[in-house]
Amino acid sequence: MSTPPSPSEIARDVLRQLAARRKLPTPDNYTALYNEIAGAAAVDVFPEKPMKTLAAALPRTTAEQVKIVRQFETGVEERNWKSIQKALLALATPREEKPLQWSPLIRELAAQLERNHAELTSSKKRETLEHLLKSTAAPELLHTRLQSLLRAWAQGSTAEEFALVEEINADAPDSGAASAPPPVSNDAAVTLSEADNLPESGIVSSATLSRSLREWLALLLGESIHSLLTNAPEMAGEARQLASEVRSIQPTAEAITSFTGRLKKFSYRLEFLAEDQNELRTALLHLLRLIIENIGEVVIDDRLLHGQIETLLELINQPLNLRQLDDVERRMKDVIYKQGLLKKQLTEAQSRLKNMLASFVDRLANMTDETDTFHSKIEICSKKINQAGDIGQISEVLDEVMSATRVMQLNVQRSRDELRDMRRRVEETEKEVERLHAELSQASEMVRIDPLTNVLNRKGMDEAMAREVSRAHRQHGKLCIAVLDIDNFKKLNDTLGHQAGDAALVHLATVIKDALRPQDTVARYGGEEFVLLLPDTPLDESVATVTRLQRELTRKFFLHNNEKLLITFSAGVAELDENESSTQAFQRADQAMYLAKRSGKNRVLSA
Ligand code: GH3
Ligand code: MG
Ligand code: MG
Repeated sequence: MSTPPSPSEIARDVLRQLAARRKLPTPDNYTALYNEIAGAAAVDVFPEKPMKTLAAALPRTTAEQVKIVRQFETGVEERNWKSIQKALLALATPREEKPLQWSPLIRELAAQLERNHAELTSSKKRETLEHLLKSTAAPELLHTRLQSLLRAWAQGSTAEEFALVEEINADAPDSGAASAPPPVSNDAAVTLSEADNLPESGIVSSATLSRSLREWLALLLGESIHSLLTNAPEMAGEARQLASEVRSIQPTAEAITSFTGRLKKFSYRLEFLAEDQNELRTALLHLLRLIIENIGEVVIDDRLLHGQIETLLELINQPLNLRQLDDVERRMKDVIYKQGLLKKQLTEAQSRLKNMLASFVDRLANMTDETDTFHSKIEICSKKINQAGDIGQISEVLDEVMSATRVMQLNVQRSRDELRDMRRRVEETEKEVERLHAELSQASEMVRIDPLTNVLNRKGMDEAMAREVSRAHRQHGKLCIAVLDIDNFKKLNDTLGHQAGDAALVHLATVIKDALRPQDTVARYGGEEFVLLLPDTPLDESVATVTRLQRELTRKFFLHNNEKLLITFSAGVAELDENESSTQAFQRADQAMYLAKRSGKNRVLSA
């Protein structure tokens, strides 16, 4: 048995072998050869550095790959060959690929960006999104990360959003390179129509994606934002400028970084502007409410104004809707115009009446004066008669009496005629004043009338309902509520146009109104839904009445371009129970109407 060689002998041998095997004298080669020559003394050295280089070179284009590479790196850190092998095997096994669904993702993204979150401000959301877009080029990974972001936003979770950002930062080992914007080439810009031609499913390249994103941004800055900035021309101009620049931006990191900075500034200003406008609107509404409420206080006994004020208050307490605002404004203007006109006429009529009364009083005073004069004249005459010596004197006095009496008679006659005439005029004016008063309250009722069909609107119906229900409860009368909904009205609108639809609504309302009793109420409850209130009518009679309306519609056709069209409706009828509220009875009628629809339409069912 020979003694093992000493370390210096081994070292000498190693150097000889390095030269013989033409190997470079690197520490690794030296170590490996030393171990080989020393035999059992070999130490298993883990090749950490080459393994890390390998890890850095592994693909990370999908979320799955990122996960596997992370597993590989952990294996390297823990010097666990098993994990490393597992990771490599997983990377080498081909996976079935599912096409990425971008459209729902982007739609949801847009929605969540606009949504108000308690803790996530919109600038914070935009910042995270921008960071994500900047740091993630691979489509599949981008898709997964955007999904995680959406999840975080949907839950309003700042913690989850933060975790995602951490993950992005952790997965950008050479963060310098990753944060540099991807190169963009001008000639490769995608137009919208090109983007439209992209395959519906299937993975697009990251270059295509980034071009599309650029195009969307330009679109957003161009048309979309511009239309919102009509009140801020300066910002609208800037938006247009940014939009044109984003399309032709130079593909250098510098240009893109500078553009990003400007975009960020622009978005901050936009946010301020939006907040300003929002606050302004809220403040204005508040003011409006205050004014309206105060008008209500001031004119507390002017019942003509109350309906209008209620309508306004109701409106501004709802979420604002431009169409509705427009509609109410138009109606209010009508009412105000009509009221103004009527009030002027009324004032004129009233002052005419006052003048006539004044002249009547004058005339009365005149008459008394004349009577007084007559009486004193007669008195003087009677004295003269007493003192008269002969018949000649008497007949003179008698002549005087006769003439005074004739004058008096004429005066009386004239006064009587005048008074009669005045009375007639006073009566006429009184009637006119009465009529004007009625018209005036009718004008203020216009807010309760549906302007298209001229029947009550929903508000008018609510009031009529309250009135009828309390009357029915009080008098133990039978009140029926019918809900009518036109059949296939959408089809009529779609085939003949909205105007024909409107005309059909007017026709139906007219036919119904003409066919019902004066004490019945007709109201347009919604688009093509009508409600009837039939007081003092039991259920069977009410069903018969509504069925009669259906028959009436088959007799009185709706004419469109000289073509006869049959309009049908489905209806549900409910009789108000004692102790039942109007809402409950209405709901029963409504349910019966839906049942009538479901069982084939054009029928009347009782609840
Ligand atoms: P159904 O038989 O089940 O009741 O079907 P429908 O088409 O009548 O009912 P749907 O609720 O689907 O459509 C109602 C349509 O009524 C849709 C809407 O455009 C139309 N509409 C609502 N208000 C008006 C209006 O004031 N004028 C016109 N012309 N159409 C209206
Ligand atoms: Mg309907
Ligand atoms: Mg309908």
